[in-house]
Amino acid sequence: MERVQRKRVVRRATVVSSEWLSPSMVRIGFTGPDLLVMRDLPYTDHYIKMLFPPAGASYAWPFDPEQVKAERAPEHWPVTRTYTVRSYDVLTNTMAVDFVVHGDEGIAGPWARRVQPGAEVGFYGPGGAFAPDAAADAHLLIGDEAALPAIAASLERLDRRAEAHVFLEIEEDDCRQPVHGPDGLRLTWVVRGDRPHGEALAEAVRAAHLPQGCLSIFVHGNAYMVRDLRRYLCAERGTTRSAISMSGYWRPGATEDLWQATKREFNVVTESAAQIDLAAVPA
Ligand SMILES: Cc1cc2nc3c(=O)[nH]c(=O)nc-3n(C[C@H](O)[C@H](O)[C@H](O)COP(=O)(O)OP(=O)(O)OC[C@H]3O[C@@H](n4cnc5c(N)ncnc54)[C@H](O)[C@@H]3O)c2cc1C
Repeated sequence: MERVQRKRVVRRATVVSSEWLSPSMVRIGFTGPDLLVMRDLPYTDHYIKMLFPPAGASYAWPFDPEQVKAERAPEHWPVTRTYTVRSYDVLTNTMAVDFVVHGDEGIAGPWARRVQPGAEVGFYGPGGAFAPDAAADAHLLIGDEAALPAIAASLERLDRRAEAHVFLEIEEDDCRQPVHGPDGLRLTWVVRGDRPHGEALAEAVRAAHLPQGCLSIFVHGNAYMVRDLRRYLCAERGTTRSAISMSGYWRPGATEDLWQATKREFNVVTESAAQIDLAAVPA
């Protein structure tokens, strides 16, 4: 039987605000009728896939991605960049998205640094998969700046009496930003400085006294850091893989296009290495 390919819905939004949260992160506010889809989202890691023309393209938003694909060579097709819905305010119908500004490289980071109210964008989504398990004894949330929006949104969802251990990697001390959570929040800021992304974070987690009991765990950000901590949590500490929400949000040295194209293979290699690790753990 012929498989019917459903057309992905392209939504639109207009930029209404831009606010620097720290020297490396800018919050962009969006509004527009299509954002009403954000009402009552169940998860705390909801994301959108923003549509951009590739570097040097001769077209700009608005465009129909399918039409562009039908008419142009693949190197001119729109690209997507994935961003967490940090919050959605139903009263004003506004969505906040926090962008890491990581230099001049890339498309979305530089766009967020420069964008002004009135600009329009297109996106797919929202998607999402994680919300903290209210039945857990404690919560362990680990990430770099790219995962900070999802971690901050998760903390705001927790009961005031919940216990949450959070490790957040930032570039410099002045990149800290206010993070609100339950009374039992233990937040460790890990400053990266000149070290490779993720190294100091993984080190800090390994050195910490992590909570015992049934944990709700979220580990996201740079793919190498996630792989390293997967090994630590699953192979070395014996945490069940299914108890952890874990994935690489980006990979150093790779654009999102390249990362998405190679992610499956990266994960297969990680998975088989993990099986070998687990087999080595004494019963
Ligand atoms: C589900 C999900 C949710 C995400 N949520 C957020 C979010 O809320 N906020 C956010 O900022 N990012 C988020 N990310 C990560 C974001 O999609 C990537 O960082 C993306 O590559 C940025 O696109 P770009 O056009 O700026 O850079 P790209 O063109 O993709 O890459 C250009 C270069 O910049 C490097 N680079 C990319 N991201 C970073 C970074 N964070 N720090 C340092 N160097 C980098 C790349 O390795 C590459 O060398 C999320 C990713 C996923 C999968």
